[in-house]
Amino acid sequence: MRGNMLREPLYVQVHPQDNVAIIVNEGGLPRGAAFASGLVLTEAIPEAHKVALADIAQDAPVIRYGVEIGYATQPIPRGAWVHEGLMSLPSPPALDHLPLATSSPLPMPPLEGRTFQGFLNPDGSVGTKNILGITTTVQCVAATVDFAVRRIKAELLPLYPNVDDVIAITHSYGCGVAIDAPGAEIPIRTLRNLSLNPNLGGAPLVVSLGCEKLQPVRLIGADALPVLQQENYLVRLQDDHHRSFGDMVAAIMEMAERRLVQLNARQRVTRPASDLVVGLQCGGSDAFSGVTANPAVGYAADLLVRAGATVMFSEVTEVRDAIAILTARCATPDVARDLLREISWYDDYLLRGSVDRTANPTPGNKQGGLANIVEKAMGSIAKSGASAISSVTGPGERVTQKGLIFAATPASDFICGTLQLAASMNMHVFTTGRGTPYGLAMAPVIKVASRSSLAQRWSDLIDVDAGRIATGDATIEDVGQQIFDLILDVASGRKQTCADHWGLHNEFVLFNPAPVT
Ligand code: CA
Repeated sequence: MRGNMLREPLYVQVHPQDNVAIIVNEGGLPRGAAFASGLVLTEAIPEAHKVALADIAQDAPVIRYGVEIGYATQPIPRGAWVHEGLMSLPSPPALDHLPLATSSPLPMPPLEGRTFQGFLNPDGSVGTKNILGITTTVQCVAATVDFAVRRIKAELLPLYPNVDDVIAITHSYGCGVAIDAPGAEIPIRTLRNLSLNPNLGGAPLVVSLGCEKLQPVRLIGADALPVLQQENYLVRLQDDHHRSFGDMVAAIMEMAERRLVQLNARQRVTRPASDLVVGLQCGGSDAFSGVTANPAVGYAADLLVRAGATVMFSEVTEVRDAIAILTARCATPDVARDLLREISWYDDYLLRGSVDRTANPTPGNKQGGLANIVEKAMGSIAKSGASAISSVTGPGERVTQKGLIFAATPASDFICGTLQLAASMNMHVFTTGRGTPYGLAMAPVIKVASRSSLAQRWSDLIDVDAGRIATGDATIEDVGQQIFDLILDVASGRKQTCADHWGLHNEFVLFNPAPVT
């Protein structure tokens, strides 16, 4: 009884007040298709697209998730296709006079005794992987470090079987940039905090060129630098004693091997689930995302919060239109004000670039039935579950608190993933409707499909099929529990994600709102 075997015409209505629902059947439904409710389609409607459940007058609201996602630009009869061309976009909600912590949820009962097997770091953070990371100050050294990493993987890594991987944190930043401009602190702290990610043992190795603007002291801080130099965990390619490319590579490999010895001596130990820092994201969303994959992830997020873990949701432009729901859900008015500060900063950033929120959704989102950013936002925030938002962090900042956190980031999959890694994420959950083979080298990525047809077509890329919720074959709670259990298994190294199986690891992409020179 999977999606592609459905015979009965089926739609999903999210909220009792909704005057639209989405078509579940794979491949869509023809004109004349009749539902159990008595509704008959007046025209063919593609899968995941909206059908009018009632006559909608011109200028009347189109309601999904119980909110006005748009207004009819012409009369829409019951049974017709409600697509993007028939709807106007509501104006963005103003940021003043929003409810601040007015419906903050009470804490749910704690979930005791949930554990995973992780690598405890000296700073108290816990890795779900045991990776050797090499930080770079500037793009100039990237090719050299990549060269050294290829040799380290081939010649050294096999000698240290407890180490999972070797990764170079390479990027386009570091020189030719306005390093003191407002906003420049974002890429700099992102790089610093990436190098401290729990899955790298919480301690950086650094390769610098020598003449770059982003000097090692600026990157890792005046406190950390002496330790790094003392322990010989900094290689500067322009130093006089490197008399050839071969010398530089040898220096990087020698530094790497000293760290490999340390990492290899570590063993997984039993740790409480509260040591998990789980980042949530969506990419290639469709109209199912908000009723299947995202609510299931939201259920898992609530279980994690109850177990004492840190859960981050992000993507400013995709929550912007649901802001009133989020400010009301903050734990305190101060947290709500922190949230508004980040949203307002992003509004200004978009304004400076002469774009607005209609830059989102993508063509693929629209093909997947998402008419506009309001509908996308309502689906996106379902990932955050029902817990109170306990704190807010800026892009690239390290998260230190437990509970549900809004970590402000752009919605770009790679930038959001990179910023969540900098925030100290040790596990990533990614929902998709259209499908993307996305993965990260630094933390496992569990991919959840919003539709069974995608999960079946990409059975070797998708880890969890949440489409079973739309067809009635599973509940949100079933799939949410499955995601929670899978997080603990993957974090313990007992199971491997599809992305890790194939080694699909997207690049780090920095968010640099400051000018390039
Ligand atoms: Ca995204």
